Amino acid sequence: MTGPVASAPGLDRRFGAYGGRYVPETLIPALDELEGAWAEARGDGGFAQELAALLRDYAGRPTPLYRARRLSEAAGRTVYLKREDLLHSGAHKLNNALGQALLAKRMGKERVIAETGAGQHGVATATACALLGLECVVYMGSEDMRRQRPNVERMGLLGAEVAPVEAGARTLKEAVSEAIRDWVTNAAGTHYVIGSAVGPAPYPALVRDLQRVIGDEARAQILAAEGRLPDRVIACVGGGSNAIGTFVAFAADADVELVGVEAAGEGIDSGRHSAPLSTGARGVLHGSLSAVMQDSDGQIVEAHSVSAGLDYPGSGPEHAHLRDSGRARYVAVTDDEAVAAFRRLCRLEGIVPALEPSHAVAWLLGAGVDAAAGRGPVTANGSEADPGGGDHHPSGGGLDLLTLSGRGDKDLAEVLELG
Ligand SMILES: *Cc1c(COP(=O)(O)O)cnc(C)c1O
Repeated sequence: MTGPVASAPGLDRRFGAYGGRYVPETLIPALDELEGAWAEARGDGGFAQELAALLRDYAGRPTPLYRARRLSEAAGRTVYLKREDLLHSGAHKLNNALGQALLAKRMGKERVIAETGAGQHGVATATACALLGLECVVYMGSEDMRRQRPNVERMGLLGAEVAPVEAGARTLKEAVSEAIRDWVTNAAGTHYVIGSAVGPAPYPALVRDLQRVIGDEARAQILAAEGRLPDRVIACVGGGSNAIGTFVAFAADADVELVGVEAAGEGIDSGRHSAPLSTGARGVLHGSLSAVMQDSDGQIVEAHSVSAGLDYPGSGPEHAHLRDSGRARYVAVTDDEAVAAFRRLCRLEGIVPALEPSHAVAWLLGAGVDAAAGRGPVTANGSEADPGGGDHHPSGGGLDLLTLSGRGDKDLAEVLELG
């Protein structure tokens, strides 16, 4: 099994036309410093070893690859789940936070900042900072703080300072802007841990490199279990870090289909969704050119999803490129379909998934709309106008790998409230 760092491909600034650094020029030296530090760190066996040891002994890697028998029966295919829900702190986000916190330490930065929406990335960063003895400030919109009280308290227990952001809608987008403002002022002693494969270069490549441990492990595990590669690799896409970390290990395997599942929210046609890859035009968000949800003036529009982790109006630039090149396919699943799949997986496998990967499970079970293939639209009440989903379920079985990016404890209240 390869380490998380050693086999990483080039530190790309662009993915086709996408990516880049659309930031104030005062940030360029900090991005250059980070890029240089990462290029050096990932070529350094000592760093790779230290990170691999923490991922193993502290975080619990490798996570299991589990053959989900009853889910397979329901799907009519053999399905393996990559169990990131079993990683310490409950989701794949720690792979990135731990790697970046270790990098910050190596760069001599004593202070770490992060943004958070629902609080999951804030908790992962606070966890990594407690472990490594780093000062941690997490920017969070005051509206999100109100909605996500338990995570605010968790971050406090872990020693992080949660800095409320009062601007605009007081949610994730404003928190990112505030974190960037802090970084512009304090870059000399501060590292900014971005939570997904988004942002200005080198972040999309850095986060992908740190998350590819998911795909590298899963590829070796499925080869060991089945003696062959899967037909399809499926993951949910918010900013896109768990998906790109899974996909990248299979990118050169031309026969493996890569499927990213976005949030269709209340339905693509309703406009209340979070599916920029399925619907969005090219635009700039948080320092990077990618597929983003915007109005005709280029202003970012609000995203909607029942799952906080997918509730983001942009996507990572590498996904936009994989879509355009045809190497990966992007589909979208509604809130209702995701919640139904959440309940189904609980009953079928005794696994309570996070709402984010429940979108991927829903697609596996036949839900969703595929914009590229021109399939029927998802109606506002969440049922598909063209039911059956037959085109993505070729008969005769098949072998699927699905990344279960996190556990659902955080989502219980939400799901129970929906009845
Ligand atoms: C945050 C989160 C996501 C979405 O983020 P990506 O960067 O797209 O992976 C998905 N699943 C879980 C469990 C999350 O916490």
